[in-house]
Amino acid sequence: MASCLLMLVGWAAEAQSIIRDAEIERGLRELAAPVLRAAGLPASTRIIIINDRSLNAFVADARHIFIHSGLLMRMEDPAELQAVLAHEAAHIANGHLSRRPANARSARSAAALGLLLAVAAGSASGNGELGAGIAIGTNSSAVRVFLAHTRAEETSADQAGLRYMVQAGIDPAAMLSVLDLFRGQEALSTGRQDPYMRTHPLTRTRLRNVQAFVNGRSGTAEGAESTPEARYWFARINAKLSGFLNNPAQTLRRVGRRDEGEIATLTRAIAYHQGADASRAISEVGRLLQMRPNDPYYQELQGQILYESRNFPQAVRAYARAAQLAPREALILAGHGRALLAADTSSGNAQARTVLERAYARDPFDPRMLRDLALAYARGGNNGMASVVTAERYAIIGRMEDAEIQATRASGLLPNGSGGWLRAQDVLRVAEIAQSRRNRR
Ligand SMILES: [Zn+2]
Repeated sequence: MASCLLMLVGWAAEAQSIIRDAEIERGLRELAAPVLRAAGLPASTRIIIINDRSLNAFVADARHIFIHSGLLMRMEDPAELQAVLAHEAAHIANGHLSRRPANARSARSAAALGLLLAVAAGSASGNGELGAGIAIGTNSSAVRVFLAHTRAEETSADQAGLRYMVQAGIDPAAMLSVLDLFRGQEALSTGRQDPYMRTHPLTRTRLRNVQAFVNGRSGTAEGAESTPEARYWFARINAKLSGFLNNPAQTLRRVGRRDEGEIATLTRAIAYHQGADASRAISEVGRLLQMRPNDPYYQELQGQILYESRNFPQAVRAYARAAQLAPREALILAGHGRALLAADTSSGNAQARTVLERAYARDPFDPRMLRDLALAYARGGNNGMASVVTAERYAIIGRMEDAEIQATRASGLLPNGSGGWLRAQDVLRVAEIAQSRRNRR
């Protein structure tokens, strides 16, 4: 934890946010799995969405692939998303990260970014709802330079990515559709290009090579249509992103009221919720639950809508059912704990502590969960643990001085050598390193 906490120091100024959502992450795991398998990367490799309308995808360490919401929402087929993932997976598998120019400046950025990502990855913000996230600094110019690949790396990532797609039964032509999104941008000034053009230089040679690979396989790739499962999860990811990120009135006009299909119903549920029409949102979710009574993410959505319309006892019931269906989803557990605290009964407060401790065990870097867990400890009279958890939250969001104050307080309240006391010492160590960095500047 200590080393992971370091990363955010000094990066918060150029904040971007990470989108955390259990349903979207579930869908991404489904779509990434065949690609990661073909690339020989662990299934634990995480796909992280950055809330940014520009088009980009990149890797900065071997365990995470980042993709902008703008790029995701521009895609029309799961195979396009899988093509982007295959290309990024190839950068990791081919060792392009370690071969980057090792001048002092980029090495420092690399170290800082690596640590940053460790955290982002562990965690990010988890607001349960979209759009709010931990601050990460991938926008700084130093990092942009650091993230850029060479033309040789691009060619090799394309070739390997195409091979992974074929191996995974995904139509490699989808790689061409992705590159088509950027056609014509070579002529634009750097400021008007999408950042993807800088991280992955696009050349005519690249396009020609990908085209040649696809042509060479024409006639052999029948049956490479996306599976119904892949289409389904891709549609759910997009419904959720567009429902939360786009203007609700526009979303409702686009989807219309008559389409009773699952995806249209999901999109409407979120748009009504975003438009503060809780009762319509609830009835749409009710229809989703009729279609799929055991879907933990629809139960969670129902919990979220009820919670945000301040119907706490019912929110507790919905989240409890979601947590029962998906006991390993940290974001769902965090939502359950939050609803229990809002309902504020004595047995509920005690249960909130247990549930939030389980969320913490699965994902200790979620600032919103940490805030709720501190409240649960405080309500139970455990001020020492409330301070430790608050110290961890401050450290994660980069408020190191506040983190130090809380960790010092916790050290005085908790028995020496206990688990909580040791966690407070970790935060103090991180605060000290951050302090010495600031002094060196
Ligand atoms: Zn690339």
